[in-house]
Amino acid sequence: MRYSGFRVIKEALSGHKGWEPAWRTPEPKPHYDIVIIGGGGHGLATAYYLAKEFHQHKIAVIEKGWIGGGNVGRNTTIIRSNYLLDGNEPFYEFSLKLWEGLEQDFNYNAMVSQRGILNLIHSDAQRDAYIRRGNAMLLNGADAELLSLDQLRREYPFLNFNDARFPIKGGLAQRRGGTVRHDAVAWGYARGADSRGVDILQNCEVTGFRIENGQCKGVETSRGFIGAGKVGVAVAGNSTRVMAQAGMRLPIESHVLQAFVSEGLKPVLPGVITFGAGHFYCSQSDKGGLVFGGDIDGYNSYAQRGNLPVVEDVAEGGMALFPGLGRVRLLRMWGGVMDMSMDGSPIIDRTHIDGLYFNGGWCYGGFKATPASGWCFAHLLATDTPHPTATAYRFDRFARGRMIDEKGMGAQPNLH
Ligand SMILES: Cc1cc2nc3c(=O)[nH]c(=O)nc-3n(C[C@H](O)[C@H](O)[C@H](O)COP(=O)(O)OP(=O)(O)OC[C@H]3O[C@@H](n4cnc5c(N)ncnc54)[C@H](O)[C@@H]3O)c2cc1C
Repeated sequence: MRYSGFRVIKEALSGHKGWEPAWRTPEPKPHYDIVIIGGGGHGLATAYYLAKEFHQHKIAVIEKGWIGGGNVGRNTTIIRSNYLLDGNEPFYEFSLKLWEGLEQDFNYNAMVSQRGILNLIHSDAQRDAYIRRGNAMLLNGADAELLSLDQLRREYPFLNFNDARFPIKGGLAQRRGGTVRHDAVAWGYARGADSRGVDILQNCEVTGFRIENGQCKGVETSRGFIGAGKVGVAVAGNSTRVMAQAGMRLPIESHVLQAFVSEGLKPVLPGVITFGAGHFYCSQSDKGGLVFGGDIDGYNSYAQRGNLPVVEDVAEGGMALFPGLGRVRLLRMWGGVMDMSMDGSPIIDRTHIDGLYFNGGWCYGGFKATPASGWCFAHLLATDTPHPTATAYRFDRFARGRMIDEKGMGAQPNLH
């Protein structure tokens, strides 16, 4: 069933009796050509592109909970491609281009909103760094714009320009950045994959791998053994736990990241704003709530909830930028489990086990990567070669000393 304005009118006039479930609830088959573990954004996008772009058949996505219950439904919905390094920028720009055509492509309203993202500058050294980043973006075909203080005062009059502990000196804007309704992305990819024959198996937990003579033959699950020609793992915050079942130890730690939503307000924020002198970022949802977040909690955890010290830290960052935030009531908050890699960049690669492939290490930035991650992982699974924009995301970069340390911070997850 295609969704359209015409369909909405037709259903409205006929008592809404014609809507069908967005995806089926099939029983697991004994064997698939390709099994994807993880029904988050990345796993579902991989299955969608495998079927649509790489013409693969007999695909299953295995999800231990429900579609949208992981980070894909917990993030702060920001998309952008404002990266510096060669290993990253072409990949994230590929992703942003896919976002721009996504709703038409999978015929689902994901509320893609290119309302822009602004990174604030608070020192002369930071301006130099952001000019360099903006130039790298332009060289890779992305958009970037350096904003003067006068422009900022006109476009963002509510920021704390006067008497601020960290005075604002300018900003780097990417007008094509913005926000997307996160769980609609999961639903859209799930529906698109299902309509192309992909089996989405919810409430089915992978508990082990069957590996014989160095070859992955399938997965043990809470609903029995499922055989597979190839297995792709895309389980985000659970990467270390799942890959440990195949005997692999990853250069990844799991940490909690929290998100916050305020009560609904009239439109105040034109786009996404990030603080340059601390870790705080904010946007306003279409329902009016301010959606904001900051640093990871800073300790290893697999729990989808955070602690109060980071709430205080994030609120301080917000107050430093726009003091008016102090009058706003916090409505809700939650946590997600981040797969923090050592250099802050992801991994999309084969493993040393034949037929077993890995996608993870997205840290707190994997939502914007969802389309490109799915496409590149599908490319790898279908062709056994890395997609040109993802060639740097390999396991051996740690052994070769070819880290992709976007922030130049060093090899520790809490620094990224
Ligand atoms: C608070 C917060 C804010 C964020 N903000 C942003 C942002 O603004 N922009 C951005 O780009 N990124 C952001 N992120 C990061 C982004 O959400 C993640 O990097 C990305 O969603 C991870 O990929 P995923 O969608 O596939 O993960 P998930 O949705 O977590 O999918 C993984 C799935 O694997 C399943 N799974 C795990 N173990 C098993 C098993 N054994 N068997 C079967 N299934 C299993 C899980 O149940 C889960 O559904 C944020 C994250 C959080 C938590």
